[in-house]
Amino acid sequence: MVRRLLAACLLLARVVHAESPPSVVFVLLDTTRADRIGAWGRSDTETPVLDGLALRGAVFLRHHANSHATRSSMPQLLSGRYYHPNVLGPFKTHEHPREFAFNRRDPTAVLLPGVLRGRGYATVGVSAHAWVVAGCELGRQFDSLELVPFSAAEGHGDGAQVIDRGIALWEARDRTRPLFLYLHLMDMHMPRPVPEGVTPPEHDDGRFNVGGEPLFDRERRRWSRSDARDFTAADRAHFAWLYDQRVRYADWQLGRLLAVMEREDPELEHTLVVITADHGEELAEDGRTDHTQSLADSVQHVPWILAGGPVRPGERTSRITEHVDVLPTLLSVLAVPTPPGVRFDGRRQMTPDGRLCRACGRSTALYAWEEYRGARAGRHLLREERPGSPRAHCLGQRLLYRMVDGRQTLVPPSRGAEALARALARKASSALDGPERAFEATRYEHASGSILLRPEFWHLDDADVRCVPVDLDTPRGFLREPGWLWTERGIIHGAGERDGALTVRVSLPDGDYDVDAAAVVAPPPPWLFGYGRWLRKSFLEEMPGTFVSLGRARAEQGWLRVDLPAAAARGRHVIGLRATPPGMSPRAFGKDGEPGESEQVKRLRALGYVQ
Ligand SMILES: [Zn+2]
Repeated sequence: MVRRLLAACLLLARVVHAESPPSVVFVLLDTTRADRIGAWGRSDTETPVLDGLALRGAVFLRHHANSHATRSSMPQLLSGRYYHPNVLGPFKTHEHPREFAFNRRDPTAVLLPGVLRGRGYATVGVSAHAWVVAGCELGRQFDSLELVPFSAAEGHGDGAQVIDRGIALWEARDRTRPLFLYLHLMDMHMPRPVPEGVTPPEHDDGRFNVGGEPLFDRERRRWSRSDARDFTAADRAHFAWLYDQRVRYADWQLGRLLAVMEREDPELEHTLVVITADHGEELAEDGRTDHTQSLADSVQHVPWILAGGPVRPGERTSRITEHVDVLPTLLSVLAVPTPPGVRFDGRRQMTPDGRLCRACGRSTALYAWEEYRGARAGRHLLREERPGSPRAHCLGQRLLYRMVDGRQTLVPPSRGAEALARALARKASSALDGPERAFEATRYEHASGSILLRPEFWHLDDADVRCVPVDLDTPRGFLREPGWLWTERGIIHGAGERDGALTVRVSLPDGDYDVDAAAVVAPPPPWLFGYGRWLRKSFLEEMPGTFVSLGRARAEQGWLRVDLPAAAARGRHVIGLRATPPGMSPRAFGKDGEPGESEQVKRLRALGYVQ
């Protein structure tokens, strides 16, 4: 009798459990490196909340983002798919192929909040990031996604604001339904002021501004914001110290939310907590800060912790996992079936009973984006530029790096290096070729207006182009050589006889286009004074001031081919091709951009995304 009662109780418990899946609190720590967190072996840090969650749950010790920045990483993290188009708020919607307004939605892909919403979850979010907002593809998947208020100078919201709102939403939740609460914290991202109440250690005062930006050699940072080759050891120490204070601050803020959650659910039996980051940050170790275009471990090795709900404590793995694994793993742990017709590129890393799947991790992490591919395994990183791109032409299509203690060094060519690079390239190819082809074949609707295709997305095929990265150190005579010249920001034609046109291919939806070279006027350099100013005016300007018509051209089978005559690029720095469907008025792409964009642009400037 007792036995039968017990069995009935167990059955009932199971039914109740099946009817009320755990709530999910998903914390996205923007710009957070795994190696600055105690749970990843760092002893001189203070991240008790994250470390505590790691002890109570599963830790993926070698987890990698699939790309270098918020815009490139978030779509892959939240869809479980390589090569997913933009899901965030509008930013230069005409300039990056993933941001084109006429990109097509992929019916075989889903985003995490949408899946849970479809399963009866209340879906709410609080964001400190100007791109993670209600009106974007991601935001539309939520019942509500709030952006906390912040000024343009601040660049992003503060963790305290996000957590305060998060706590309020948590306490006000409908207890008859599971909740998906998404919190996007920006405390580790530039600008990074010293948190209140923290006293900085002795350092060379006046080297950094209140947001943590270097104040010395501004000219260098004007050309490349991430250039930190001139940092002293003391500068590097201060820069890293400040970053650690911000991690500590975010950890403390998270603790406030956790304390509230534990009041009702001390063991987190009914709540699954997910911690991860979209990407990390270089802290000047390799002469670079920031995360732009970087595949360094400091940028790609990010935290991933799952705690609470059915996840068993003490689970940890050193096998490589990737962002594309996160969504299938969460669905597995939450016992949510993959929606019909949907496919993931990632693998489930946990079983529904909350244990790690030992055989599911990988030996290689893959990086997938418009401009590059990467494969990271053992001590090596292979970076492949897009074939035919100016970067591939100038830097080499494949670069192999050796990674030691978080630093990367280029491996000089040798037979062994070549074999290793080939092996890594094969791994990348076997996993990424299919998804990339599928993505490219279905990515566009018909073009709905002018597009500006930046030279980094051009295919130059076998063009004869010299490579002179133009910056503050470029010598005066660099334009005297004849022929085509890649400046790293655009293309210009030097004086001289080699006057053949440059054939450029770009990927666009089929159809006719009126094409212009979008350029900045670059008059001959001054003989005596003002060379630096001339360099900046001619080669740093990102918005075109002049357009040279190249006539009408037709894109067929996804490609538009244009001949850029030398005359169009003589005395002009060509920074894009403008393609406009016939009958539509071409856009000027002025500084003011789209209506209502100015506040957004100011915020993005504080984040370093707009010059
Ligand atoms: Zn980010």
